[in-house]
Amino acid sequence: MRILTGMLMLISTFCFGQKKQIQNIASTVSIERLKKNLYYLASEQLEGRVMGSHGDTLASEYVANCFKKNHLAAPYKNGTSYFQTIPAYKKNLLQSELIIGNKKFQNWNGWTFAMRNTETTQLDNLPVVFVGHGIENSLYNDFTNIDVKGKAVLLLTGQPQDSTGNYLLSGSKQPAIISSYQNLLKEKGAVLILLYNNRFTADSLLQRKSSFQSVYKTQLLPNNSLPLIMVSEDRANELLSPSHKTIKSLAQDITKTLRPQSFNVNNNVGVHIQIDITEETAPNVIGLIKGTDSAAGCIILSAHHDHVGRDGKDIYFGAVDNASGTVAIMEIAALLNKAVKKGIRPKRSIVFASYTGEEKGLLGAYHFAANPLFPIEKTWAVLNIDMMGRVDTFYSGRRADSNYAYILVKDTLNRGLRNALFTANESLGKLNLDTYYEQPQFMQRRLLGSDQYPFYLKGVPFIRIDCGFSKDYHQPTDTPDKINYELLSNQIKLAFLTTWNIANN
Ligand SMILES: [Zn+2]
Repeated sequence: MRILTGMLMLISTFCFGQKKQIQNIASTVSIERLKKNLYYLASEQLEGRVMGSHGDTLASEYVANCFKKNHLAAPYKNGTSYFQTIPAYKKNLLQSELIIGNKKFQNWNGWTFAMRNTETTQLDNLPVVFVGHGIENSLYNDFTNIDVKGKAVLLLTGQPQDSTGNYLLSGSKQPAIISSYQNLLKEKGAVLILLYNNRFTADSLLQRKSSFQSVYKTQLLPNNSLPLIMVSEDRANELLSPSHKTIKSLAQDITKTLRPQSFNVNNNVGVHIQIDITEETAPNVIGLIKGTDSAAGCIILSAHHDHVGRDGKDIYFGAVDNASGTVAIMEIAALLNKAVKKGIRPKRSIVFASYTGEEKGLLGAYHFAANPLFPIEKTWAVLNIDMMGRVDTFYSGRRADSNYAYILVKDTLNRGLRNALFTANESLGKLNLDTYYEQPQFMQRRLLGSDQYPFYLKGVPFIRIDCGFSKDYHQPTDTPDKINYELLSNQIKLAFLTTWNIANN
């Protein structure tokens, strides 16, 4: 009994000592090194690191060199390479026209579509039906006595609300999302959605502004969804012209009477969109620190190194998004190397993943989730870092030097992730862990919005840490001089200690 107590004391002294050592290592985060790495990744030379570009290659080589310098194991080509090549399928627009009656309109002339969600489409002479908001429930039904099968449906955005603020489609305070219309319309046999958007000018300008970016096929979008095009007031009225009604008067009638106004328009529409697809490749960078217990599986520490590139002479530097997260995992590699040198290894293996193609639809992460180093069922958790080191618009309005991090924890298998995070933070005693984005209204976007998602779909619990959005988000003004390096270093210490806790609990 005494011997056992003595052994337990020895073990706990050992653990305590190790904890102290890890904390000491955390305190060696080097702001100088963070700056050097971040200024390189977000430099003119790397041209915004768009997937498949020379900048993407340079960034991936920089990360790989860091992994090598810190003695991470290289998983590919018999232990000699950190590069996992991913295939990417680029969509090229060859032709696009909208035909109303016998008039033809080129793309952007009162109509447009999102390349991401669109495949080659060849539809001719479709009868047009106006179906209001596309709502069907016990209170209200846009589809009574209207057959949409084989037809093009003209739809309104901006759903009517009842007097208590409930949306009619969902019967809740939340409006229905576009994918639910699409499912309903698809079920009913419609073949094309013409969505009237009263913000057409503003929204199409935004789309046009971002159209310098090439678009790739992604698994993020549902397969075989209905083709959807956005139309302006002029085009909507053109579609309605045989009825002598206008889109605005129809919208007003529905809002005023809360009764459906659906009808067959007695007009025809066609859409020709021709897209061809070319195959490219791009690099994920993967490194490994082997754990002491091979039965305990692995954790994945991830960040994406790609960004959106350049538009002519405007470079989108992507300092926060996500050079910051990339330097975070590089720094954590350096810290863990120090631990390993002192003879301290984590129980679980730690897989470092620097993804490409996040901005194109999580392409690198999807590929790695389908081709991981360890089987998915051996993957204990993911810690994903996407954007660190800026004080977002909310906090900067209060204190420009705020110390905080937004967290999102989905611990679906009760693996103590939240505890690992809060314990790490306690020992640092520094950051306000903000759960704002864990609210249900943000959840779907937060899940889809970064590289944890393909793993979440496979049932892997995760933590995401980030700093929220500044006004420079996805602008050429997201530059390295605007990073708060003190905050970045505190957030990296948190990520490092959390990684350590998850890898050992
Ligand atoms: Zn990002």
